[in-house]
Amino acid sequence: MKPRVFIPERIAECGMSIVQESCECIAPWRDGKECTDAEQREILPGVDAVIVRLFTISAADLEQCPNLKVIGKHGVGVDNIDCEAATARGIPVVFTPTANSNAVAEHALALMLALARHIVPSSVALREGRFADRAQFTGVELAGKTLGVVGLGRIGSRVAEMASAGMDMKVRGYDPYHTADTYKGPAVLETSLDELFRAVDFLTLHVALSAETQHLINDERMRMLKPGCRLINTSRGAVVDERALVRALEEERIAGAAIDVFEEEPVPADHPLCAAPNLLLTPHISSSSRESMDRMARDSAQGVVDVLNGKSPANVANSDVMS
Ligand code: NAD
Repeated sequence: MKPRVFIPERIAECGMSIVQESCECIAPWRDGKECTDAEQREILPGVDAVIVRLFTISAADLEQCPNLKVIGKHGVGVDNIDCEAATARGIPVVFTPTANSNAVAEHALALMLALARHIVPSSVALREGRFADRAQFTGVELAGKTLGVVGLGRIGSRVAEMASAGMDMKVRGYDPYHTADTYKGPAVLETSLDELFRAVDFLTLHVALSAETQHLINDERMRMLKPGCRLINTSRGAVVDERALVRALEEERIAGAAIDVFEEEPVPADHPLCAAPNLLLTPHISSSSRESMDRMARDSAQGVVDVLNGKSPANVANSDVMS
């Protein structure tokens, strides 16, 4: 019997083809079926593998899945999967660490430019017949400004390169796990997050969510930012204290922010963030370029099929499990 692979969320056809070559695919969305979260979870106990995007896999879910041999993550942030519980059960979590780095970096840069030049509010004003409001939309240039990058991994390093070489920005970075020996990019390394905050005109976040990075950007730190500073978050919602951000925007302590990721997703329409001034919101689409979607589908599918076929997968998030 072919192994059964559950794919609760839409992935690109190139990934589906890889799975279908040797496995049975359970993907209700392909037949136009809209399943509730509870209905999706009922499928889990009978499958050998699952490939998830934002679908959560908890320790309780894993207890119900005696046959599960591998979890595939279509993306890099594995915080929607209880990796510790997966490790305890000997289940590898294969992921796609390089597939979306460029897409996220470009989105962060797009948000930075959109904030700097009031792209969204000026477009709304024009459509509403308020052409004369153009006088309110004098922006700032990125060239010559200081960008702070928190987290100099795959995405943060790419943003630093693009901002430095492409936009002529001065780039400073903070990453306690890097030294001048391990980081070779254009960002000047800061040893203190607080120093970085005081120095920057734009601040962009590229850390994984962990106990260490939860609410890394809190009320106290936001008060260190210059009044003209703009904050961009494409990492994970909980890295920023959202209530503190709303207060900083309402009190005009910073000039603006752009957020792609939220503590609660999907974001309810009555969420305080949706009413905050000078805030640009996108619905967790930083990695949603066609090229990156193909790479994530292909790499996550290949990782899952490799494990099911007894081969070594290229990228395992809980690498302890392989030993
Ligand atoms: P990465 O692991 O390559 O880089 C993360 C960096 O953060 C590492 O260099 C690490 O040393 C550093 N870091 C850890 N703790 C830190 C701290 N306290 N302060 C500063 N730096 C710290 O990961 P990546 O591929 O660059 O991705 C970063 C994150 O971006 C992912 O974990 C994910 O949460 C998020 N992401 C979001 C989207 C999206 O669609 N919005 C897509 C992909 C990734």
